[in-house]
Amino acid sequence: MPDVFLLALLVVAVAIGWWLGRRERQGAGRRSQPPALSRDYFVGLNYLLNDQQDRAIETFIGALEVNSDTIETHLALGNLFRTRGEADRALKIHQNLLARPTLTAGQSDRVQLELSRDFLALGLLDRAERLLQSLVRDSQDDELRDTARRLLADLLEREGEWQAALDVALPRLVRQHDDIRRAAAHWLCELAEQERHSASPVLARRHLRQALATDPHCVRANLLLAAMEHDTGQYKPSIRLLRRIPDQDPAFTPTILEPLARAYRLLDDEEGLIRCLQELLEQAPCTSVITRLAETLRHHHGDDREALALVTEQLDRAPSLGAMHYLLTLYRHNASGEEDERLALLQRHTHTLVQALPRHRCRRCGFSGERLHWQCPRCRNWGTTKPITGIEGE
Ligand SMILES: [Zn+2]
Repeated sequence: MPDVFLLALLVVAVAIGWWLGRRERQGAGRRSQPPALSRDYFVGLNYLLNDQQDRAIETFIGALEVNSDTIETHLALGNLFRTRGEADRALKIHQNLLARPTLTAGQSDRVQLELSRDFLALGLLDRAERLLQSLVRDSQDDELRDTARRLLADLLEREGEWQAALDVALPRLVRQHDDIRRAAAHWLCELAEQERHSASPVLARRHLRQALATDPHCVRANLLLAAMEHDTGQYKPSIRLLRRIPDQDPAFTPTILEPLARAYRLLDDEEGLIRCLQELLEQAPCTSVITRLAETLRHHHGDDREALALVTEQLDRAPSLGAMHYLLTLYRHNASGEEDERLALLQRHTHTLVQALPRHRCRRCGFSGERLHWQCPRCRNWGTTKPITGIEGE
């Protein structure tokens, strides 16, 4: 049993004691005191002190009438259960509260909000959804309605109901919260991906433009727009869209290198690719740009000289395992016999080290891995997982 829980339980016990004491004082003038309640309270306290928290809780709940003075204590107890992973017991407390006819409309809304959180914790998504829908529709409390909207949008997102999540979040939540604005742009990208595959490119483009209007930093929208141009043979527009991405977020420069190179190759414009990579290098001096530019220069000139000069110069500026690994490849082109064997041995080690490096990392929770996830699998934030470049700057 965690200490925090025990402490919270003690606070609840004190609150109950205070309330009972007040009730008895108020009642003393009018009628005889109700000693049974006080006895229950001390029995509960005794359980608590004897480390029997569960029985203590049952006794406290039994001792505590539901009225406007005690509703906060009941809600606090319910939350305690849920955070402790016992949502079924929280559910009982909240259902018990909701059955009382004396609740005001505001109190009833608060209990229903907690009840929907219990349903969510228990995986009863349909029931949570119905309850949240009715709160969003009917509650008179603006703040509570927004909380219900957030929970509902989150639930719909988990179910992949992108349009429904957008309908709930737009426009109020998107305007108020940065994380929801970022998420909403990604929901639009998800819709665009579906439409792109079901052959309605016009609708897909409309959603991607809307994604950029919602969040101008949405790299994924430009990446998808570029891919759609590429698919229809529009390589120059595709390159223009890809070139916007480092301005949106330089950390995503490595992500655009492959589609850029493909488009320039199909245009048969290697010089164009070299110029483009040189500009990108000034903007974002990351290893993947250095090695791709070096490799393109080598191919273009038919020798290693410019590639060698570039990689050596960049390594002098900033150490990079990937660039060093590539430099060994260049050295090996001109080595033979024993020297090549020694370089090969070194390169085997740099290869192992490079392979062990994660390629992407979530800037919010640190989750890292090979793949780029638009939504972090650990913290569920959208757009926080980025390539690891050494120029992260965040
Ligand atoms: Zn994360």
